[in-house]
Amino acid sequence: MKVLLVTGSSRGIGAEICRQAAAEGWKVCLNYASSADEADQVVAQIRAKGGTAIALQANVANEDEVITLFKRIDLELGPITGLVNNAGINGAGTRVDEMNITLSKQMFEVNTLGAFICAKHAIKRMAKRYGGNGGAIVNISSAASKHGGPFTYVDYAASKAAIDTFTIGLSKEQADQGIRVNCLRPGITMTEISVDYAKQHPEWLDWVLLQVPLGRPAEVSEVANSAMFLLSDKSSYTTGAILDVCGGWVSP
Ligand code: NDP
Repeated sequence: MKVLLVTGSSRGIGAEICRQAAAEGWKVCLNYASSADEADQVVAQIRAKGGTAIALQANVANEDEVITLFKRIDLELGPITGLVNNAGINGAGTRVDEMNITLSKQMFEVNTLGAFICAKHAIKRMAKRYGGNGGAIVNISSAASKHGGPFTYVDYAASKAAIDTFTIGLSKEQADQGIRVNCLRPGITMTEISVDYAKQHPEWLDWVLLQVPLGRPAEVSEVANSAMFLLSDKSSYTTGAILDVCGGWVSP
């Protein structure tokens, strides 16, 4: 049976990917940094529908915690065959000349280094050179990597642009190991990260929606649908791809 880890999946996009994956027969490990109750609720929803899910705490930016996370998945579900690097946080929401470097460092560690750390330990389970049978990695970037987030979150945008480049390099590095690596760039999706940001910067949501040709935010299910495609054999000839799921916001 296929085993999936979705980082940062106690709510929002990650939780929906877990629900969809479990419905498609994956054994799923949810992950969170501090929201145990929310993660347990998602696990309960999945189990109520006959799916297999566990929830494990680990800060993706802390390699020791990630090592423990993967060991527990090995024991409780078996070695993973799918990884979604989804955990992400915002920066302080300021212009660069006013940025809080401490908060930005923390953001880069979670959004960017966290994805590297989790991929490192996933590859040790998936790659042929380690005796694995291959797998699929999906990195969650952001439309911000293309529009740059001027005046509010250039640091966040740059942390996600690094994820785009990480996807391209890693896909080439792992192709002969049976591992496909792809990336999703969601646009505005009304999860906690965006709702919180819109509360602090009410003008931002109007500004965003003016630029989105489809004229509305995404549903989490619409983003999760694309993640499921990239995890599945339906995308067996796709690696190193970056898929915009942003209502046309930053599409060429
Ligand atoms: P949410 O804020 O709803 O959820 C974020 C999740 O990440 C939570 O489960 C949170 O759990 C977890 N998390 C945060 N920090 C860590 C950490 N250090 N280690 C492990 N888990 C952590 O976010 P979304 O669902 O909206 O976003 C998911 C991804 O999509 C993010 O990478 C985000 O940048 C990206 N994205 C979102 C967009 C949007 O409009 N919503 C647009 C473009 C991209 P806990 O509470 O326990 O910390």
